[in-house]
Amino acid sequence: MSESSSVGSDVLVIGGGIHGLSTALHLAVAGVQVTVLEAEYCGRHASGVNAGGVRTLGRHVAEIPLALASRELWYQLPELLGDDGGFVASGQLKLAETPAELDECRQRVQQLNALGFDHEVLIDREQVLEWVPTVARHVVGGIWVKDDGYAVPYRTVTAVRLAAQKLGVTVLENTPAQAIEQKGTRWQVRTANGVHQAEHLVVTAGAWSGRLAAAVGEPVPVHPEGLMLMVTHRVAPFCTPVLGATGRALSFKQFANGTVVIGGKLVGSVDFAARHGEVEMDRLSTSARTVTDLFPHLRHLGVNRVWAGVEAFTADDLPVIGRSGKASRLSYSFGFCGSGFQMGPGTGKRLAQEILGETSPISLAPFSIQRFAAPAAQTLNFASTIGQH
Ligand SMILES: Cc1cc2nc3c(=O)[nH]c(=O)nc-3n(C[C@H](O)[C@H](O)[C@H](O)COP(=O)(O)OP(=O)(O)OC[C@H]3O[C@@H](n4cnc5c(N)ncnc54)[C@H](O)[C@@H]3O)c2cc1C
Repeated sequence: MSESSSVGSDVLVIGGGIHGLSTALHLAVAGVQVTVLEAEYCGRHASGVNAGGVRTLGRHVAEIPLALASRELWYQLPELLGDDGGFVASGQLKLAETPAELDECRQRVQQLNALGFDHEVLIDREQVLEWVPTVARHVVGGIWVKDDGYAVPYRTVTAVRLAAQKLGVTVLENTPAQAIEQKGTRWQVRTANGVHQAEHLVVTAGAWSGRLAAAVGEPVPVHPEGLMLMVTHRVAPFCTPVLGATGRALSFKQFANGTVVIGGKLVGSVDFAARHGEVEMDRLSTSARTVTDLFPHLRHLGVNRVWAGVEAFTADDLPVIGRSGKASRLSYSFGFCGSGFQMGPGTGKRLAQEILGETSPISLAPFSIQRFAAPAAQTLNFASTIGQH
């Protein structure tokens, strides 16, 4: 790559979703000069079109310390960003519809308690009915997390971007990274508008990150899925917490304006080349049925809009966060498997700490890219072209 027209920063971030922008923000707080390259516009993909769930409930045990740290930051967004991202501390409730499901919930809470976590609490049928009086009478209890909630995704991502820009971060939209190369100690990223270079490169390109990791000889079993959501017409307030279910896919919340957002990792399809997700109405109708089973009074409620966003899923359902195992001064944060919006604030802060060489009690070891390293894949070719998509 020619260096003639290159622009330099301390850190280059590829991808302007919540993870890239949050990492950039926390680096800028420490005085680092950061440039974010975004292929389309910030928040265009998963970070701007998700269900807004701020959920520590039901997390993989390895994710809990980071998710709890991230949740603390959700409460501090007004000080950090000057905007709360529409965060509402509504609590989240996972319903058990049968005694067997309630047993499953009980075992989960016992397992967490044994590990020293007490944020998930088992509740009985009476408590569920007290908090959600309109729910169907067959519900037998559930798990309650009082400090979880929900936020408004595009508003949150925009607030993170604006706060980062205020601290001096340069955000270049419509600027896809076309090729990356490490020359000596510096990274060079080629775009249609010239070459950008920096001491450190951060890959937060969501579902497209696998290609960048492969380009440095670190293939990751990550694939894109189109996750679907629907939003209903307005209805009188009937449910304050965010609801999930134990035995079937559901994530459900009523916003203050009366609309209900229904999701729960519902997989549609994805046109990766065209960079968008597509809705599969037959699968979406299964989810609508779950909602009317639990809230029969909604059976005539109209659906306003449906959509699908592109999300990155890894083979073991855990994200990749931390340093490259192959190249120096390269970090990753991607593959959040349908639950990365909540993790955005905390993961950005934690990754920035790691890049700055600061210590933290939160280990990133479970998220290391090296867990996927195959002894045979040892090619050390860092000069590579990334596909357009
Ligand atoms: C429908 C849906 C519902 C969800 N619901 C929830 C929820 O309720 N709660 C929750 O916690 N999580 C939820 N998630 C998951 C969450 O949205 C994601 O895990 C999170 O937003 C991922 O953020 P990201 O920054 O890693 O990726 P993204 O938001 O996808 O951002 C990556 C960015 O990188 C850019 N990019 C890609 N390639 C390049 C390149 N070569 N050069 C420059 N830029 C590039 C893309 O254009 C994109 O803007 C949901 C996801 C979806 C799709």
